[in-house]
Amino acid sequence: MHLWDPINDRQLIVLKRLSAGESLSGAAETQARISARALTRRGLAEVSHPDGGWQMGITAAGSFYLEHGHHPDQPPSDRRGVRAHQPGSSANGLVELHPAPIDWDGKPLEHDGMLWKPEPGTSVTFDQFVQARLLVVEIHRDMAWNRWREDERAGELQDAMDVFAHWHRAEPDFRPMTAEEVAAWMDEEEASSKARIQEDERQRRARIPPYDAEREQARLSLLECEASLRSSSKEREGLADGSLFPAMDAQRRDSQIKEAEAAVVSQQARMDQLRQVVGDLETVVDSEGRLPCDRREFHLSRFSWWRGDEVRRLRALDLEFQEKLADATDRSARAQLRTDRSRAEQQREALEVMPSLDAAAMCSECASPMNWHQGSWPIHLQMGPCPAWPNWAARVKKAREMLLQDHDQRAKTAPRPKPIAVVPSGLPIAEIVAKLAEIQVKHPDAIVRRGAANRWEVWPPRNKKS
Ligand SMILES: [Zn+2]
Repeated sequence: MHLWDPINDRQLIVLKRLSAGESLSGAAETQARISARALTRRGLAEVSHPDGGWQMGITAAGSFYLEHGHHPDQPPSDRRGVRAHQPGSSANGLVELHPAPIDWDGKPLEHDGMLWKPEPGTSVTFDQFVQARLLVVEIHRDMAWNRWREDERAGELQDAMDVFAHWHRAEPDFRPMTAEEVAAWMDEEEASSKARIQEDERQRRARIPPYDAEREQARLSLLECEASLRSSSKEREGLADGSLFPAMDAQRRDSQIKEAEAAVVSQQARMDQLRQVVGDLETVVDSEGRLPCDRREFHLSRFSWWRGDEVRRLRALDLEFQEKLADATDRSARAQLRTDRSRAEQQREALEVMPSLDAAAMCSECASPMNWHQGSWPIHLQMGPCPAWPNWAARVKKAREMLLQDHDQRAKTAPRPKPIAVVPSGLPIAEIVAKLAEIQVKHPDAIVRRGAANRWEVWPPRNKKS
C-alpha cells in the first residue's frame, strides 16, 4: 500500500467533515473514527490532545487532497484516474488539453466508421477526442465486468466524457433523435424484447413433458467422468515424466502409472456407455425445461454479481484488518490477523484478475466458472467438484450424514450434569439444616432444587457451568 493510494468514499466524507472542523469525538462517531484512523496513517488527518482531551483534525496534506484529488506525495506518473476538482479543467491530465482553440479546416474527420466535427471554439483536438472516446468505451467495459470500478473510476469517466462532448457527429444527414423518436424507439425495443421472452417461455414449457430424469443424471455423470478422466490423464503424465512425486522410487512409480492407466481406460469405457444414453449434451433439459446454454447465461449473471460484491466485501475487510492490526498489541493476535488478512487478500486478488467471462465458460449446473471445477488449489469455497455431479454429491451427502451421526453420538455420550450433592427427603429438620450448612461452606453460591423422589439436589448457580 502506498501513502497516496486513493481513499474510499467513506474516508473522503470523513476528510471533508474534518476539514469543516468537526471533531468526531461523539459517542456515535465510532465508524467515522475508524475511517479517520485510516486517514491518519496516510498523513491526511491527525489526533491532537488539547487540554488532555482527544480531538481529530485535518493536516496540510489532507487539505491538499481535498483541493487536488490526490495525495501531495503521489508521483505524477501514478496519477491515472485522479480527479482534480479545479474549475475549468475537464481533462485533469488524462488528456493534456490544447492551450487555445484549435484550428479546423472545416473537413469532418473519420473515427470508428463515423464522421466528426469540433464544437466551435473548442480547445479539444481530434486526437484528444478520440483518446477520450476510447477511454469512455474502455471504462464502461471495465465497469461492466469489474463492478467495484464504479467507485474508483467515476471521476475518470466524467473527465473523459467532458472531453468527448466537444466533438459531434458530422454526417450531412445526421441529426440527433428527438425526444419523441427516442421514446418510440424505446417502446419498440421493449415490445420486441417482450415478444422474445414470451417465445423463449413457450419453448421452455414445450420442453417439460419430454423431460427425461435418467438422461439428465447420465449427462451429469458424463460431465463428472470427463473431469475425472482429465485428472487421471494428468496424473499419469506427471508420473511418467517424473514431475509428480519426483522422489518416488521407480518400482512404486511403475505401479502407480499402471493404476492411473487402468483408471483412464475404465473412465473412457464408462464415458462411452454414458454417451449412448445422453446423446447431444447440449439438448438435455432439466425438469423445468431449461437447456444447459440458458442455465449458463443465468449462472454467469449470478456469478458476476457475486464477484462484484465479494471483491467489495474483501476490500472493506482488508481495511478492517489494517485497523485491527494497528490496534492489536498481542503478538499471537497480530500473527493471526496477518494470516487471515493474507488469505483474504489472496482471494480478492484471484477474483480481481479474472478476465471477463462469457456464458460458455460457465458451469451449466452452478454459478461457478467451469474451470473452478478443475483447479487443483481451492482459493475460494466454491472451487472444487460441482455439487451437482452425482458421485461427488453422494460423497458430500455421506460426509454430512457421518458428521451429523458423530454429533448425535457425542450428544448422547456427553456426561450428564450431576448435582453437587443430594440430600434425601424425610429426614429431621436439624439433620437437613446441618447437611445443607456443611455444603454451603464449600459452595456458598449453590442453589437447591427438588430432585427425583423428593430429594434435595444442590446445584451450581444457573449462570455457572460445572
Ligand atoms: Zn457446477
